Amino acid sequence: MNCKLCGSNKHRKRSGSVRDNKDLDIYECCNCGLVYLSESYQISDTFYENSKMHSSFDFEKWRKQTFEDDSRRFESLKNTITNKKLLDFGSGNGGFLKLAKNVCTKVCGVELEKAVKEYYEKDKIELFSNLNECNKKFDIITSFHVIEHIKEPIEILEKLKSMLNDKGRLIIEVPNANDALLTIYESEAFSHFTYWSCHLYLYTQYTLSLLAKKAGLKVEFIKHIQRYPLSNHLYWLSKNAPGGHEKWGNFLDSKELTNAYESQLATLNATDTIIASFTKEN
Ligand SMILES: [Zn+2]
Repeated sequence: MNCKLCGSNKHRKRSGSVRDNKDLDIYECCNCGLVYLSESYQISDTFYENSKMHSSFDFEKWRKQTFEDDSRRFESLKNTITNKKLLDFGSGNGGFLKLAKNVCTKVCGVELEKAVKEYYEKDKIELFSNLNECNKKFDIITSFHVIEHIKEPIEILEKLKSMLNDKGRLIIEVPNANDALLTIYESEAFSHFTYWSCHLYLYTQYTLSLLAKKAGLKVEFIKHIQRYPLSNHLYWLSKNAPGGHEKWGNFLDSKELTNAYESQLATLNATDTIIASFTKEN
């Protein structure tokens, strides 16, 4: 299996396992560093259409779960998106769009999951069930934790690019393949927890910029951000389990420490998340 991004046929096996499919191996391209699964079979669209991936579809609970991420994204992008026409690709429960709606001239979502429809109607947010249904152009297209699910990421980025106005921006957030828990601390427990058959590719700053260039996009910036605080990492290392921020966060994660830890991980390219802004080449 050749690397999707650079074509190299040399890969090494990463340690760890795919939590929901033990038959799969995790590969890392020796040339560019793209992380991919040994068999990237296409998860059918119907899986996502009817997945109700989110806890027997308690919508309010799902919105609560994503509120922190939705707010973080909104606050960091507020200035960029004000008075702009915005599309969120893979818009999930619409939590980000609900916030963006307050400052954008227009917001739309694209979401395969059918069960969200009535909630978008309630919030008066236009929704499309796939990209081809939406033949409009936008100033800003966002996509948070979606691209890693996509089997043909270059094609999707090209498609999104074609939907941007001339000075438009594409803003992509994905998990970082070089998460400190894997690359620095080498947490074995985490390496059997984090990989998931739905994440067909995991990107780094370098491979995400390579992907953008292949799709004819220009990298404006790629930033490292850390979603999970120090307490979560210490808990992994001590107890080999997730959720440490809920148990230890209240006495460990001061604002100063959290910010300093994020900055430090960012200098090592080892945060858990990367966010990129791309513009059209020209
Ligand atoms: Zn490669």
